[in-house]
Amino acid sequence: MKRKGNIMDLEREVIYNGLCCYCGTCGAFCKEYITYENEIPITKKKCHEIYGACYDFCPRTSFAPFEVERAVFGGIRTDNLLGYYQGDIITARATDEAVREHAQDGGVVSALLVNLLEQGEIDAAVVSKTAENWTPEPFVATKREDVLAAAGSKYTQCPSVSGVGDALEQGYKNVALVGLPCHIQGMRKVQMSTGFDVGADRVKLLIGLFCSETFDMHSLENKLVELGTSIEEVEKFNIKKGSFIVHTKAGEEIKTPIKLMRDCMREACNYCYDFAAEFADLSVGSIGSELGWSTVITRSKVGEEIVKKAKAAGAIEMEKLSEEQVKEVRRLASFKKRRNLKNIYDKTDPVRILNMLVEPEMLEQFLGVK
Ligand SMILES: Cc1cc2nc3c(=O)[nH]c(=O)nc-3n(C[C@H](O)[C@H](O)[C@H](O)COP(=O)(O)OP(=O)(O)OC[C@H]3O[C@@H](n4cnc5c(N)ncnc54)[C@H](O)[C@@H]3O)c2cc1C
Repeated sequence: MKRKGNIMDLEREVIYNGLCCYCGTCGAFCKEYITYENEIPITKKKCHEIYGACYDFCPRTSFAPFEVERAVFGGIRTDNLLGYYQGDIITARATDEAVREHAQDGGVVSALLVNLLEQGEIDAAVVSKTAENWTPEPFVATKREDVLAAAGSKYTQCPSVSGVGDALEQGYKNVALVGLPCHIQGMRKVQMSTGFDVGADRVKLLIGLFCSETFDMHSLENKLVELGTSIEEVEKFNIKKGSFIVHTKAGEEIKTPIKLMRDCMREACNYCYDFAAEFADLSVGSIGSELGWSTVITRSKVGEEIVKKAKAAGAIEMEKLSEEQVKEVRRLASFKKRRNLKNIYDKTDPVRILNMLVEPEMLEQFLGVK
């Protein structure tokens, strides 16, 4: 049986235990009680309900991977590194050059969203838009210009799921969410909760982004100064072939090995085992694809339909990823799982967190290590 908890349990087990990934799920539907400051949830006032939605929805209090896979995909994974998927893993890009210009890689995520909004298949998409100095904020996009304004990767964390709370509050009926693995896990917990109904059946599509880690904003700012620039000067960030790359507004390109960025990583990312956004309807990343293209893993029927329709509408072009390129994706997924496995074990023992609800004999299959 799943353990229940309240807002105080959440503070003790997750927030003050270094596990909060700042995904925005806990406060998304309880804005009266929870807000976010300095990249952590702040309790505005104590909620006196015994069983809190915040605790129930948090992806770090418990997560039942195979239960989610059965419910969403209709079966469980055979690929322990990339999770459940169907068909071929593909490489794709937006056909519209304007979309690609705004985008991080092939612009697939933005092209899919624009196509869905223009076809009336969704009425809102929750994306992440940069506010001042690269601080990402959840944003409810309802038209092409909104989607393009929020395109591109922000390597610091955004409480995106709280944008779903905004979209539902504003009355949208067919909502898509773009998020990192932690956002997707949080949103799946909201959708599958038996204790709390917040209208999550109106969230029809989850697009996941591959993720090795996110950076703590303050540490990133300091690192940029070390690298001879500043956050105000940054035009675009990128991570390619083992390097963290900063493109400045003055046209400079500053490269540093990604391993030297480890001290900027958010603490909670040390306990994450999900690289490929394993519980999304479809997942998108850059690894495996040529420059200017994106790698796409289709997982659910919903995801499969959306990719098919975007191709039929001419919004994206695509081809199958070669075995060698798929290996690159697996290699990076395996690297993250292996790197974090020891941290997960260490943390699990003394304080009994993560609580992945995986049968012990299936843990190896789930984490992708033998
Ligand atoms: C923190 C982070 C780490 C990543 N790590 C890897 C990696 O290790 N390997 C890899 O192959 N790919 C990684 N990616 C994915 C990659 O950078 C691209 O996002 C992906 O290839 C999609 O490109 P695109 O051109 O199709 O997306 P775009 O068309 O540019 O759309 C990107 C979408 O993602 C949203 N978004 C941007 N940043 C965030 C954020 N922080 N939180 C939630 N939503 C966001 C945007 O609002 C936009 O809707 C990472 C992305 C992020 C944000």
